[in-house]
Amino acid sequence: MHEYSVVQALLNQCEEHAEKNNATKVNKVITKIGVMSGIEPQLLQTAFDTFKEGTICENAEFIQNIQKLKLECKECGNVFEVDEVRYFCLKCESLKVKVLDGEDMFLMSLEME
Ligand SMILES: [Zn+2]
Repeated sequence: MHEYSVVQALLNQCEEHAEKNNATKVNKVITKIGVMSGIEPQLLQTAFDTFKEGTICENAEFIQNIQKLKLECKECGNVFEVDEVRYFCLKCESLKVKVLDGEDMFLMSLEME
C-alpha cells in the first residue's frame, strides 16, 4: 500500500529531526496532505498507528492538514484553490494553469521533548 511507504519515510524524517534537536520523544506530528497527492487520510492514519510502535513517534498525535489544489493562471495571474480536479482558471477559463500546491505531502512541523 502506498500509504505504508509514505509513513515509513515520514517516520524516518521524524527520527532525523528528533536526533538533530536532541529530542527523546515526539508529541505531535503535523503534516500537510495535498488533495491531489493520492493519499487517503484514513489509510495514512492507520499506517501511522501501525508503524509508530517502537519509534520515537510512539506516543505522538498525528495531525493531517488537508491542502486544497492551489493553482495560478498564467494568463490572468489569478491564484485560486479548488477541491476537485479542475485544471483551468476560474476567472478566464484558461487551461494554462500552474500547480502551486496540493499535489504533495509534507511534514510541516514536530513538537518534541
Ligand atoms: Zn485566468
